[in-house]
Amino acid sequence: MTKKLNRYFIVLILTVAVILCPFYEAFALKEHNIPNLSKIKRMVIEYKESGEWAKEVEGQAKKAIAIIEEHHNKYLKQAIIFDIDETALDNYAFYKKYDFGYNSEAWHKWMHENIAPAVEANLEVYNKAVEKGITIFFITGRGEIKREATERNLKQVGYSGYKELILRAKEDLGVPAVKYKSGRRKEIESRGYEILLNIGDQHSDLDGGYSRFTIKYPNPIYFLK
Ligand SMILES: [Mg+2]
Repeated sequence: MTKKLNRYFIVLILTVAVILCPFYEAFALKEHNIPNLSKIKRMVIEYKESGEWAKEVEGQAKKAIAIIEEHHNKYLKQAIIFDIDETALDNYAFYKKYDFGYNSEAWHKWMHENIAPAVEANLEVYNKAVEKGITIFFITGRGEIKREATERNLKQVGYSGYKELILRAKEDLGVPAVKYKSGRRKEIESRGYEILLNIGDQHSDLDGGYSRFTIKYPNPIYFLK
């Protein structure tokens, strides 16, 4: 009787193992540790188009305005730095149009043929800096060749009265963003400015020093070193 029970038990274990085997295989796949690209794209669209992104940018912009109001000093030569893409200008329409991919030809065409809208909450920070008499610099990863298109876009959406638009010169091409951007901030400080605030959507816009405060906006689409 015991032998018979043992046999049943072994058969049962083998049957369960055979049934569960495909599931085990499925869960062992690396796929389960990698977020699914289509799902991520849908999440990005939802985050952006539900207004959640704008709400979070607004929260960060309010912090920036509070810094300006609290720390501006008319006796100092103060400056504020803005990044451009996904900080001053919103290129979401471009990324959505190309299914969140990137190619430099399409990007070049986009910049020359389109006017990207302003990041609305950032425009409020900008206007607050203008109101307080703080000198405004843009430092962007865009190349010098994009100067005209960039100036046109900034002007059309309401960014006027800035001191300087700094783009990557030929010798800056290929230089990591932290090195390039902090180097430009160092130059601005060497001209006697105190950089009160630096605003960008990438950590590489902000790292490397040469600003008293930094504010980061969210960017769910791309990451730049
Ligand atoms: Mg940017």
